[in-house]
Amino acid sequence: MARTYDEQAVQPAGDVLHEACGVTAIYAPGEDVARLAYFGLYALQHRGQESAGLAVGNGVAIDSHREMGLITGVFDEEILGRLRGDVAIGHTRYSTSGSSVVCNAQPFVEESNLGPFAFAHNGNLTNADELAARLPDDVRLAATSDSEILAKTIALATGGTWAEKIKAAMRVAEGAYSVALLTPDAVYGFRDPWGVRPLCIGTYGDRGYMIASESCALATVGAHYLREISAGEIIVIDGRGIRTEHTEVVKPASLCMFEYIYFARPDSVLSGRSIYMARYEMGRALAREHPVDADVVIAVPDSAIPGGIGYAAESGLPYVEGLIKNRYIGRTFISPDKKMRSQGVHLKFNPIVENLRGQRVVVVDDSIVRGTTTPRIVSLLRDAGAREVHLRITSPPIVHPCYLGVDMATHEELIAANLTVPQICERLGADSLGYLHIDSLVASTGRERHDFCLGCLNGKYPSRPADSHGNVQADRQPALKA
Ligand code: SF4
Repeated sequence: MARTYDEQAVQPAGDVLHEACGVTAIYAPGEDVARLAYFGLYALQHRGQESAGLAVGNGVAIDSHREMGLITGVFDEEILGRLRGDVAIGHTRYSTSGSSVVCNAQPFVEESNLGPFAFAHNGNLTNADELAARLPDDVRLAATSDSEILAKTIALATGGTWAEKIKAAMRVAEGAYSVALLTPDAVYGFRDPWGVRPLCIGTYGDRGYMIASESCALATVGAHYLREISAGEIIVIDGRGIRTEHTEVVKPASLCMFEYIYFARPDSVLSGRSIYMARYEMGRALAREHPVDADVVIAVPDSAIPGGIGYAAESGLPYVEGLIKNRYIGRTFISPDKKMRSQGVHLKFNPIVENLRGQRVVVVDDSIVRGTTTPRIVSLLRDAGAREVHLRITSPPIVHPCYLGVDMATHEELIAANLTVPQICERLGADSLGYLHIDSLVASTGRERHDFCLGCLNGKYPSRPADSHGNVQADRQPALKA
């Protein structure tokens, strides 16, 4: 009987199954690959803080370890010392409430007709139900995520080589998937044909290679960035070297714009463009589009800081620190429920009163999703003595949900989908509000509009989920951040 993966989920009906994660892979015979992958993951901790795992291949078998928690809590010397081999992959996971359980921690280790493999996925399938329904009835799903559906699809795909099996799965899988796959003696890296989530490759030492969600992971272990893995490309690294085995029919390029705005670390490079410089240019453009008579510019730490510095540079206003973030709490948007989210801001930021008292303050932030966090920031600044608070946002209004792995609000919850800009300004309690225009956003990346998914900003998605009647599902996912 056909089934959906929701049938096997342990979470309540209506909850969502998705993730926005970090993956890494390393091929480095003779090196301590587990430790290298561990440090790579450590650099990707910002992409997911709920669980982490490593899998290592020793030429014959695969050993792995995965647990709930931060990288530093999941691994210790004893565990890393046990994971010996020449190839490794790693995963750090973000999930929503309900699916934050160890069975969903990755990498998954699966069996197949070609032997064992381990699998680490960043993204979100838009046809996971359909893929789950295709699986034979006797296939047991141990997890509740779409990642496992993709792993099983690959395991059961036809093909005499791994590249053929991956290729077969890519023909039926829709949505976002940047994947690191490990066999006992090789690593594979591949991206969906739209290229929604990033994945790059670099060299390590004389004959090693490393794959990671972001280039900051490569830099952390001394690997040298080569390039992005192309949309639809399957990279193979084994004893014969490195090669592209296949490039799936390329769909319209659709890199998630929020990698530039928010997700990626500022020291990462994405398709040759520094994330820091892209955000700095967003801030400069924002200052040109929405100038204001003010005394100081501050930014909401951390992701908006380059934008704040850019706004200050373009406007000629001084940039000062106005908010200090407690970095041990975690990003507001990963809080698992509304109550914790609302408490998070109070715990998370403290004002520097001396820089705010009596000042007309420009506050640069990267996005407003539901509009529940920002009023608290405005209040915090006013309580600290700010005379005026002018919000400047380095993204356009978010007016649609995301179907591709970003924990976004529903249409009803999105503040910009339901209110005009003046109404939002009033709701947030600010003196003025300005969003960056979509053309300026694209220009700040140094790339073309057709390179991106801008679905939550303009409603045009590369791939959308359909229900059993073929209708596109709406509002499937609940918060990027509040
Ligand atoms: S809809 Fe928005 S958040 Fe989702 S992938 Fe597209 S740009 Fe990124």
